[in-house]
Amino acid sequence: MDVARPLTYRELAELSVERIKGVGEKRKDALENFGISSVLDLLQTYPRRWVDRTNEARIADVVVGVDAMVLVEVRSVVSRRIKGNRVMVNVNTGDGTGRLSLTFFNQPWREKQLKTGAQIAVFGKPEMYRGHLQMTNPVVDLVGDRTGRIVPIYPQSEKSKLHSWDIAAWVESALNKCEPRGVADPMPTDLLQRLDLVDRLTALRGIHLPDAMPMRDMARRRLAFDEVFRVQTMLVGRKRALEHESKAVAHRITGSLINRFVASLPFPLTKAQKRVVEEITSDLAKPTPMHRLLQGDVGSGKTVVSVWTLLCAVQGGFQGALMAPTEVLAEQHHTSVSTLLDGLMVPDDANLFGDRPLQVRLLTNKVSGESRRAVLAGLADGTVDIVIGTHALIQEAVEFKHLGVAVIDEQHRFGVEQRAALRERAMRGTQDTMPDVLSMTATPIPRTAAMTVYGDLDVSVIDELPPGRTPIKTKWVNGPLMESAMWAHVREHIERGEQAYVVCSLIEESEKLEVASAEETHMRLSTSELKGLRVGLLHGRMKSDEKEAVMTSFRNRELDVLVATTVIEVGVDVPNSTTMVVLDADRFGIAQLHQLRGRVGRGAVASTCFLQTAADEPGPRVEALVDSTNGFELAEVDLALRGEGTLMGAAQKGRSDLKLASLQRDLDLIQQARDAAFEVIDSDPTLSRHPLLRDELDLLFSQEEEEFLFRG
Ligand code: ADP
Ligand code: MG
Repeated sequence: MDVARPLTYRELAELSVERIKGVGEKRKDALENFGISSVLDLLQTYPRRWVDRTNEARIADVVVGVDAMVLVEVRSVVSRRIKGNRVMVNVNTGDGTGRLSLTFFNQPWREKQLKTGAQIAVFGKPEMYRGHLQMTNPVVDLVGDRTGRIVPIYPQSEKSKLHSWDIAAWVESALNKCEPRGVADPMPTDLLQRLDLVDRLTALRGIHLPDAMPMRDMARRRLAFDEVFRVQTMLVGRKRALEHESKAVAHRITGSLINRFVASLPFPLTKAQKRVVEEITSDLAKPTPMHRLLQGDVGSGKTVVSVWTLLCAVQGGFQGALMAPTEVLAEQHHTSVSTLLDGLMVPDDANLFGDRPLQVRLLTNKVSGESRRAVLAGLADGTVDIVIGTHALIQEAVEFKHLGVAVIDEQHRFGVEQRAALRERAMRGTQDTMPDVLSMTATPIPRTAAMTVYGDLDVSVIDELPPGRTPIKTKWVNGPLMESAMWAHVREHIERGEQAYVVCSLIEESEKLEVASAEETHMRLSTSELKGLRVGLLHGRMKSDEKEAVMTSFRNRELDVLVATTVIEVGVDVPNSTTMVVLDADRFGIAQLHQLRGRVGRGAVASTCFLQTAADEPGPRVEALVDSTNGFELAEVDLALRGEGTLMGAAQKGRSDLKLASLQRDLDLIQQARDAAFEVIDSDPTLSRHPLLRDELDLLFSQEEEEFLFRG
């Protein structure tokens, strides 16, 4: 073996941290508890802050009342008991440009932690107290006696006695060990040059031991690029593999059926709808299977687009299926799709007249007996053109003659297996082509997240609502006065013949408690604020025919108010409802509140959404809803509030492993990485000419994630 060959990430991953000077048995265990067992882990433990001593960290420069970070030395520490048996620790510090005293309440352990002579970085708001500069309960990082202009501060653990300066020293020693051979770079050099990215070893040095902040920034950009590039290479690889592995029908996207459908539409399509139809039909016309995600806010008009998509299958003599997550939703789709397609004729050579009426059928678990047999027979012999249903569509007994297009509504409510099952269903029997699949969601996610979570799909976005909508007014409600005004509003609008929803507190721990709370709210409101009105109750523990009965009477205006749990979140569509009340709104997430609000504002009359909280502050989520009705804007806020981990979910472990890259800040970088991934994969689909890259993906992604990759 060539000794001079640069070290790969795999080699660094196979080197135990014990090989680093100063890491013995005990430290090794502590590090392992911290998730660091190899030299690679250590090198990928990035500082969480950097303190620039010469620039920003001097006491002389702080401004009273403005948050500041200073690097100081501990001069003395005293601890005292004060009123209420509490402990106050006073610490005097200085840095040669001035003095700063720190006061800690109820943190007795500070006395032990902060030894005289220790170097610490302190973050807090400086105040003047008796003529002295002081901070109360600041954030403190021990930095040890690091030299150098910029001090990296690592995540540390008091419990495991792992200090920032220990980690800094080990990292430095690891970097020095790498120096003679260098670190291998899996990225093609021309790409690095074109994207102006520094090489790997420079980046690792620059993130851990920068000489100046711009160097750290360059390092961060390179290492963050690597993170997203790996993810994109995996996703793009999977996407291309799916496309190359299977054939699909090259659909006829024009013809008399489509023309008649377009002519019969009661409204012109919005620009956004036209654009996505274009994107979808150009996929459909190709002989490779479509895997496209359609994102569009509630009410943006996804239904017409999905019907157009299904009709492209029918136009060429194939079948279309639309799968929805609930019976209510499937039934509603069945009604609206049947209305849109009413009277359309399908070309049919076997028929004397050359055509026959288009057949749309519903298949849910409620469709039984003779009518079920008829639907199943029609699917098998091809006389049913479009079927709309629930999970019932992927049951054993369902055979299609030739399924050409599948649309999956609210796709995130289905598991991966269920989505795959629909595809496979279609592949059975005589069919050797894969259906084209359009997944839809009304829960928009930011573009960065879409590229990362759904990077193996193409994404289309309807970012415009049909004209003529009256925007929904959203109000935060707090306290008895505002609450009684809210109920007065509800009554007033009911007197005008409109209807209202009241959504009860979300109780995440238990559906049973949630139902109890809904029942209690229903009782209370019927006998007080909403007395004399016809108030119905809907919750998840009711049998489906009970639910159906309640929904039907609400739709028929036999009920004025529907008190409900979040079961109404998806798919309930009653345009006469104009008021939405959400109780304890601060318990809900942004996306959920947005979906709930989408239940109103569906008709011509102006709608109002009240978000009630018991707390005196609306909280950031309720505030966001009051400020915006745009689902994409709200998705950005949600991302900022919740962070990326939650968004990606535990199932995407490897993908969420973004240590430096940020879905909030790195849109450009993610786009560049995606483009680069397409370039690399399209020139070398199995990465045989990029062995380092391939090996690194093997190393860093789980088996499961990888199975999708390079199967061919
Ligand atoms: P989504 O499924 O995206 O929530 P829908 O497809 O149910 O939205 O459309 C919401 C409403 O808007 C429906 O009543 C539909 O008929 C209407 N609609 C859709 N597209 C248009 C358009 N281009 N112009 C006017 N109304 C439209
Ligand atoms: Mg819809």
